[in-house]
Amino acid sequence: MIDLRSDTVTQPTPEMREAMAQAQVGDDVYGEDPTVNELEALAAEMTGQEAGLFVASGTMGNLTAILAHCGRGDEVIMGNKAHTFLFEAGGISALGGVHSHQLPNQADGSLLLEDIAAAIRPDDPHFPVTRLIALENTHNRCGGTYQSPAYIRTVSDFAHQYGLRVHLDGARVFNAAAALGVDVRELTAPVDSVTFCLSKGLCAPVGSVLCGSRAFIARARRIRKMLGGGMRQAGVLAAAGLVALRTMPQRLHEDHRRAQKLADGLRQIPGFQVDEGSPATNMVFGSLSADVPLSDEAFMQAMAAHGVLIHDVAPRRYRFVTHYWIDDRAVEDALAAFRDVLTAA
Ligand SMILES: *Cc1c(COP(=O)(O)O)cnc(C)c1O
Repeated sequence: MIDLRSDTVTQPTPEMREAMAQAQVGDDVYGEDPTVNELEALAAEMTGQEAGLFVASGTMGNLTAILAHCGRGDEVIMGNKAHTFLFEAGGISALGGVHSHQLPNQADGSLLLEDIAAAIRPDDPHFPVTRLIALENTHNRCGGTYQSPAYIRTVSDFAHQYGLRVHLDGARVFNAAAALGVDVRELTAPVDSVTFCLSKGLCAPVGSVLCGSRAFIARARRIRKMLGGGMRQAGVLAAAGLVALRTMPQRLHEDHRRAQKLADGLRQIPGFQVDEGSPATNMVFGSLSADVPLSDEAFMQAMAAHGVLIHDVAPRRYRFVTHYWIDDRAVEDALAAFRDVLTAA
């Protein structure tokens, strides 16, 4: 099957499985898992932060970070299309009592500085206390778009002037770095904390890393324990993460090239409209034309019958994601399947 639903579907590579089998482990809650410690140190170094914390998922990384930055009733400013706002089960409110203030995401996933400025609360007992600005790079729901080092630095400097902190949901920040052709540090060093996923384009089976200052990570470590995320011999998982961090960031441009090839091919096929400007990175967004007499269900089933797994993100809206297990041949085969299904319809 050619699975274009997400880069979360990536299976671990043989090298990762071998590293997992050979991993030296210990009790990570005691700080004694050498493989977890190595992963956390490498992640911190790569992101230009002081320390790292291995967590079970990107959702846990964002939740842990926001709870470490904010107390109950504090406010976090974020985009109205932020993954944390839309797709993390409201955890920051349910578990942390943190209030979110959503601003309109621009087409590239950014927030306007003037919107942020207007959202910062004055010191008045009517208002929650603004504590944190949360950014997302690449921006998932805005099409896998990326924001520049200059933007990240501008928002961070601005936040710090107001005594606010910045958290970056960098689930796919290595994709942003690859698309920009910059060291990921340029995107992650200016912020106060960053989460990135090992389990998406980097191909590891499980896990994310939260990075920040030593003092911040010490607080986050207690919160991770509170959330049930103290994982004991987690080095088995971290071993795959180390292979991911060492070998995968430098190949992400291949996924971007294949996403472009997929988009170029789709633009030649009547019945499917690729969004203008898509893809920015490894995600092709587009819509099934109104005149195609197929329901979403029928379209997805017909594609599956041709060996291609896709799913809709809204009625007649689709996101196709390229990743390690999608090679040039898979792109060609997927395009042939789209052509067959759409011309038969
Ligand atoms: C996938 C994703 C997450 C959450 O990661 P999980 O590991 O699925 O919990 C957070 N933010 C963004 C932008 C994502 O794409």
